[in-house]
Amino acid sequence: MFSPLNATAQAELLRSLVERSRPKSGEARPVVVFDLDGTIFDNRPRTVAILRAYGEQVRQARPDLAEKLGGLHHEAVPYLLTDTLARLGITEEGDVNALRDHWVSCFFVDQWLHHDVALPGAVDFAKACWLNGASLVYLTGRDLPKMSVGSFASLRDTGFPIGVPGTALVCKPDPAIPDEHYKREVCPEMARVGNVIASFDNEPGNCNAFFEHFPSAASVLLATQHMPGAPALVSGCLTITDFRH
Ligand SMILES: [Mg+2]
Repeated sequence: MFSPLNATAQAELLRSLVERSRPKSGEARPVVVFDLDGTIFDNRPRTVAILRAYGEQVRQARPDLAEKLGGLHHEAVPYLLTDTLARLGITEEGDVNALRDHWVSCFFVDQWLHHDVALPGAVDFAKACWLNGASLVYLTGRDLPKMSVGSFASLRDTGFPIGVPGTALVCKPDPAIPDEHYKREVCPEMARVGNVIASFDNEPGNCNAFFEHFPSAASVLLATQHMPGAPALVSGCLTITDFRH
């Protein structure tokens, strides 16, 4: 659906943004905005860990289910949980419902976020922007009550700049707010931090919102995974595969 830049063009774009991260005298400080899930983090290993743990919990009663879940690899995790389970041959309604309940109770809380892994090049790119002087905002649809502490720890432990001057983690105040609605509302607020020069997100709708609010900034889609039925990317947004530069 989206055509990512080739490796050379991706590297050129990212290196140009590292260069643009240097503050210019008389101008507001550059700001780079990063989404978390599907953008700087691959959260599929979180889903794998959660489903495998369920398998181990029920292994005695349901060795068949435990075997199927134990064989799951993060490369075989599509966007929707039901698709992941179907790929494993788990389609019985009772199993699917029980697994969905378990997954929901774990996926959206601090305790499981440490399973996420950084996208290739993401830590180095964020560090390079920050070291050159840009402020970094991690703007996520994860919610403040149940996911902010784990998100902070995950950023810290993965090596992203966080907890230092010029960095902020911004979370959704209430999990009930739809992500795109939240980001559309809050993205103009990024101007409080400084001059937004780039934003990165894996949801086309969020990229479009940033492009509308900050047309002179680079609005960049990560071609990882996105919600089914997402809108088309507006002309002017760019697409990359990861952060290798
Ligand atoms: Mg995301």
